[in-house]
Amino acid sequence: MKKPIYLLAGLLLLSTTLLGWGFWGHQRINHMAVFCLPPEMVGFYKKNIDFVTEHAVDPDKRRYSDKEEAPRHYIDIDHFGTHPFDSMPIAWKEAAAKYTEDTLKAYGIVPWHIQIMLSRLTEAFKNKEEDQILKMSAELGHYIADAHVPLHTTENYNGQMSNQKGIHGFWESRLPELYGEEYDFFVGRAVYIKHPLEESWKIIRESNAALDSVLKFEADLNSRFAEDKKYTYEQRGKNNVKIYSEAYSKAYNEMLSGMVERRMRAATLAVASYWYTAWVNAGQPSLGDKENATQLDSLRSQIRREEAKMKQDRIDGVVKGHEE
Ligand SMILES: [Zn+2]
Repeated sequence: MKKPIYLLAGLLLLSTTLLGWGFWGHQRINHMAVFCLPPEMVGFYKKNIDFVTEHAVDPDKRRYSDKEEAPRHYIDIDHFGTHPFDSMPIAWKEAAAKYTEDTLKAYGIVPWHIQIMLSRLTEAFKNKEEDQILKMSAELGHYIADAHVPLHTTENYNGQMSNQKGIHGFWESRLPELYGEEYDFFVGRAVYIKHPLEESWKIIRESNAALDSVLKFEADLNSRFAEDKKYTYEQRGKNNVKIYSEAYSKAYNEMLSGMVERRMRAATLAVASYWYTAWVNAGQPSLGDKENATQLDSLRSQIRREEAKMKQDRIDGVVKGHEE
């Protein structure tokens, strides 16, 4: 018997999209960040560009098996009042004293997690552990990129509170997928970040400032678009998936007037700048002295083992935070 296709499609509606930039975007950001690095670093990173690109998405893979992972990717800053940036202390200790650790973890910890990853990367540079340098670079890049997404700063992260469900993947995956090849990723040279935690908060503030437009433009567009013109169906592998139509995407992208590209460019420069900052703070060690091919092979198989384990003990329904 032939299955009614609309039923199947309904079930699959954009259900795997709350991942921050999608695979393409995360990989692109890490990849292009390499070209912003100073001469002392760029050779090593270019040689290992496939690794930092491929592993840009590892933190998202962990979200379904490790319940500590999800809150590292966002902060629902609007949970903390009308002027949350005035009331939220910048430092973790003071923020935890004010709101409790549990509350912070429930609403997201991305600015502080960037700080943790930065110190891990700095440590790896100090110890000249090249496999760890690459692993930490790839993962730090992920969290920095996530912090650049406006919908990663709100409780209404998928438009579920404003009848705009699906907007998360629309903004961060569908639009870059359609128009990303035209983006200009030459964003200049990495800069030293004197106050990394303050910088992370600055990124969050900028993302949050763009949130109004992200939601309002889509709501406006939705009100003047017929439902049957808004979505289309596309075959992806074995699945027939309901996605935002090209006409709808084009109109939204025009209203956003380059916002997605601007956030991706800012993310790329920030990723390179945090890598560079870690390297400077570690005393500018020389890179690529050792032959790290074997190290990387064993790191890769370690990651593969972890992924296999994750699949096995996936905790369905337990993992909370920005999921459907
Ligand atoms: Zn993420």
